[in-house]
Amino acid sequence: MTATGALVARYAAVVCDLDGVVYRGPSAVPHAVEVLGSLSMPVLYATNNASRSPHDVAAHLRELGLACTPDAVATSSQAGAWLLADRLRPGSRVLAVGGAGVATALAEAGLHPVLAADAAAGEVQAVLQGYGPAVTASDLAEAAYAVEGGATWVATNTDGTLPTDRGVAPGNGSLVAAVERAVGSPPDLVAGKPSPPLYLLCAQRLDLDPKRVLAVGDRLDTDIEGAVAAGMDSLLVLTGVDDLRACLEAPSHRRPTWVAPDLRALFADPDDTNGELALLADAVQAVHAARDVGTASDEVDALVAKAESVVGNAGHR
Ligand SMILES: [Mg+2]
Repeated sequence: MTATGALVARYAAVVCDLDGVVYRGPSAVPHAVEVLGSLSMPVLYATNNASRSPHDVAAHLRELGLACTPDAVATSSQAGAWLLADRLRPGSRVLAVGGAGVATALAEAGLHPVLAADAAAGEVQAVLQGYGPAVTASDLAEAAYAVEGGATWVATNTDGTLPTDRGVAPGNGSLVAAVERAVGSPPDLVAGKPSPPLYLLCAQRLDLDPKRVLAVGDRLDTDIEGAVAAGMDSLLVLTGVDDLRACLEAPSHRRPTWVAPDLRALFADPDDTNGELALLADAVQAVHAARDVGTASDEVDALVAKAESVVGNAGHR
């Protein structure tokens, strides 16, 4: 049940990031499963990770205890295929670079995926480039040849790094940069966050105006910037990459509508002026406003300390 005064009751649906919001590695983020499982509105899970299929992501979420079907998962591969389906005739040949999720998304969007090994056999109208652990230099070469030949080039996402349990690996953005270096220009389109298409695909699936959707994420430079670009309100939860300090320093195109220690804030009442959701929103906004007008640094520091004390108090619940 969702109380009428709850933050989430102001919206018709939630689009939620995964890593750092719902899980970290294999384990669930505290409170995430209980909160998301008790929402009485549609929830879509939007991920820049193009290598796992919606089927695999949904299976992972079910293991954590969430009732989730593959159609509740939107990936940057699907968003890339959606962009291309809008621009090409059905059945058009598209070079699929990346994990299996890339070719699957193209086929589901009514396009004809062509693997790099078969690319020499005929022209392709476009390239969809996503991450895959088995992507080779030959795959990147085929992408470059196609782009040089005039194919539309769509990157699923441009995340430069991929954190793994053994260290930081090159992410799709690094592989895209290799092709960019060869062809001399960036991709024509990027599907994943912080570009808007992934969020806009979610809004279309929900049949809702983006204004009626709340985007939830843990990263300012992807989740929140993407929400701002797509015209969605956003909630930054401090359970993943970015902390309060980063939020307070964010430029205007990366500022969330709401900030909270964790997902339980979805049930908090923003009109409760003594509640931590309103106190934190006010404190964060005061810091942003002070920075924007060039307020003296000691005054900004005092506002920062005030915002940090709100989060500190919340941490002792
Ligand atoms: Mg995340």
